[in-house]
Amino acid sequence: MSAKLVKVGSAVVRPGSVSRGKLRVATYPDGREAFLSLEVIAGRRSGPTVVILTGAHGDEINGPEAISRLRPELTPTNVRGTVIIFPLVNPWGFVERKRNVPIDGRDLNRCYPGSANGSFSFQVAYSILQVAMRASVVIDVHDAGTRMVLWPHPRVHSEPKSDPTLELGRAFGSEIIVTRQAEPGMLAGEARALYGTTVVSVEVGGAMQVLEEFQTRALRGLRNLLRAVGSLQGKLTLPRNQYILHERRGVPAELSGIQTTWVQLGEVVRKGQPLYRIQDPRTGRSLVRTSKSCGVVISKNILGRVDRGENAISLLRFESCSADAQMSGAVIHNRAGKYVTIEQAAWEHAHPHLI
Ligand SMILES: [Zn+2]
Repeated sequence: MSAKLVKVGSAVVRPGSVSRGKLRVATYPDGREAFLSLEVIAGRRSGPTVVILTGAHGDEINGPEAISRLRPELTPTNVRGTVIIFPLVNPWGFVERKRNVPIDGRDLNRCYPGSANGSFSFQVAYSILQVAMRASVVIDVHDAGTRMVLWPHPRVHSEPKSDPTLELGRAFGSEIIVTRQAEPGMLAGEARALYGTTVVSVEVGGAMQVLEEFQTRALRGLRNLLRAVGSLQGKLTLPRNQYILHERRGVPAELSGIQTTWVQLGEVVRKGQPLYRIQDPRTGRSLVRTSKSCGVVISKNILGRVDRGENAISLLRFESCSADAQMSGAVIHNRAGKYVTIEQAAWEHAHPHLI
C-alpha cells in the first residue's frame, strides 16, 4: 500500500512521509461535524497496513499513553508499509472521564459495525470501521477503566483455533493470553464477521493510573505485534512460558466497605487461598473471601472502598490445578526476567499466513 498515495480523512501521505489529519466521523445533534485526529506513517518500503486505535472508552488512559510513547519509534525509515494511528477515538468520554460517549450515552465498542445514519456513536463506529477494514491487522488498546487494573495481556478469538489473532496474541509476548467470544457490537468481532479483518485487542492496566511496569510491557508487546506482522524489523521478545486462558471471571464483593487485598496482579492462587478481606465500619461486619479454584489474578480493584456487587478482583481459572503445578507455584509477576528473543524471520516462516 505504501507504493502509492495513502489517503485517510484529510491526511494524504506519500511513501516515506508522515501526515497528521482528521477524519469526519459523525454529526453532532446540533448539526456540526465531529472529527477524530489521526496520523499516518507511510514507510519508505512496502509492507502491511496496520491500524492502531485506542481510547474507545473515555476512562481508559493507558492505551493513549502507550501509543504516545510508541509513536517516536514509528518513523518512515523504521516502518514498512503504513501505520494509521487513532490516538483517541472517544475524546468526548475522555473529557468527562467516562467510559461511554456522553453525547448519546453509548459504549462505542458495542456500536460496531455502526451506521452512517444511526445515533452519534454508531456513526463514529461506522466511520472508524471504514478505515479499519483496509488494514491487514488492527490493534485496539484498552484498559480496565475507572476502578480496576488489568495485568497486561491480549484478547483473542476463542474460535476457530486457526484464527490469526491467537498467533498474534502469542506474538504480543505476555505470559497470559486470554481467549474470548466477542460480544455483539465489538470492533474485534464485527470487523472479522463483515470484512475478515484481524483485530487484536490489548488490555493494559487501568484505574486512571499510568503504571510504569505495565507501560513497559505494553510497549514491548506493541513492538512485538508490529514486528510479527512485518511493520517493524527486529526480534520478538517472548516469555519462556505462555498460558492461554479463558475469559476472566469476576469475584464480586459480597459486602460494601473497605477492601484489603492479599494477592498481587499476575499471582497464581490456589484453591482455598485467602484473596481479600472487606470490613464495613458502619456495622462492624467483615468477611474474608478465599479462592474457589486455582487460577491467576488478572485484575484487581485498587481502590480501598468497594460496593457490594462490584468486582473486588478477577481470576482466570485453570481448568485443572495441575496447570498450577506447571507454573511451579511461581508468581508470574516474578518470572518477568525470563524472556527469550526469537528471530522475526523464523516466526514469519512458521506463520506465513500473517504476512
Ligand atoms: Zn475498553
